Amino acid sequence: MPTPIWRELFGQSDAIAQLEQAVSNRDSGVHHAWLMTGPPGSGRSNMAVAFAAALLCKDGGCATCHSCTLAMSGNHPDINLLTTEKVGISIEEVRNLVVSAQMGGSMGRYRIMIIEDADRMAERSSNVLLKALEEPPAGTVWILCAPSEADMLPTIRSRVRRIALKTPSVEEVAKLLVERDSIEHSLALTVAAEAQSHIGMARRLGTSVDARGRRKDTLVAALAIDTVTNAVYTAERWIELARRDADALTAERDADERDELLRVLGVEDTSKLPPYARADVKALEESQKKRATRSLRDGLDRILVDLLSLFRDVLMVQLSAGVPLVNESLKSQIDSVAQRSTAQQSLEKLHQIELARTRIAANVKDLMVLEALAVNLKTKR
Ligand SMILES: [Zn+2]
Repeated sequence: MPTPIWRELFGQSDAIAQLEQAVSNRDSGVHHAWLMTGPPGSGRSNMAVAFAAALLCKDGGCATCHSCTLAMSGNHPDINLLTTEKVGISIEEVRNLVVSAQMGGSMGRYRIMIIEDADRMAERSSNVLLKALEEPPAGTVWILCAPSEADMLPTIRSRVRRIALKTPSVEEVAKLLVERDSIEHSLALTVAAEAQSHIGMARRLGTSVDARGRRKDTLVAALAIDTVTNAVYTAERWIELARRDADALTAERDADERDELLRVLGVEDTSKLPPYARADVKALEESQKKRATRSLRDGLDRILVDLLSLFRDVLMVQLSAGVPLVNESLKSQIDSVAQRSTAQQSLEKLHQIELARTRIAANVKDLMVLEALAVNLKTKR
């Protein structure tokens, strides 16, 4: 029976077993650097935080003591969490973290440094981190999170112990949504497939009619592109949909974080803020504001990931592959595009979508990238 701290982490028993092993042997020392790899939505950062909490808790992760509560709410003084509010991680941010790493723990014997999206570090920042990994101060544990090992420099890879998270199956995700979020079974299966097993995304599609509507609008518009004029219009529409999706997501997340902060601060009547809580709430609001840019970029990337799933479906139909479609609800439109184009053209479209993702990530102007993409996705009537 795993310790309570892991209970929210779903479908990752192998990774949890490895981490529990490290926690139970922590009196004889903990390896100083870890890399959690897994696709977005696999719970990399939650796993990192749970590991940190377990290392700091005297019972190895009871999930209820003061130390665990602080850790899980992101307020533990001995856990430094570097989240990416911006597109990249700056060298200053990494330097600050390296400096904090020298300080040692204040409550316990460990100081834990977590870098979410460690793949967003440029080579220069990675080198600053490398220095810290080469000469670790006693009691400091680094936990890096990235999509895969290949996203990290080989010099960093050779110093970390790797924990690989797996992508849960559509059925596993659906089961979780039914049990945890009371989502109806057939809807749970549909959204788990549409989200390609991204747990957070599946939950959102399953609980927000608007979010599902926006996803569908995006894809229906893509399948209907037949002229250049139509393509240009569709690109504008995608940006509008991405912005609305990002705004909605930001609002939900901001409200959740505020509730959580007020809970930790012990504010019961949330309609009037006691003076002692004001500084913390203000600090939270500032950091939420900073996150807005990143949020639109993520929204655009979600559209591109959804488009990949759509043209993969078209290709599967063209190849008569007989596999379940990600976007089963659009089957008739998918069939129609499959008939009017060739597998070769679908492969080229998939390639163009990947290219657009790279260009958006590299800060090329959004509308320009999406217009070029939409033109390349058109299918003649
Ligand atoms: Zn505890």
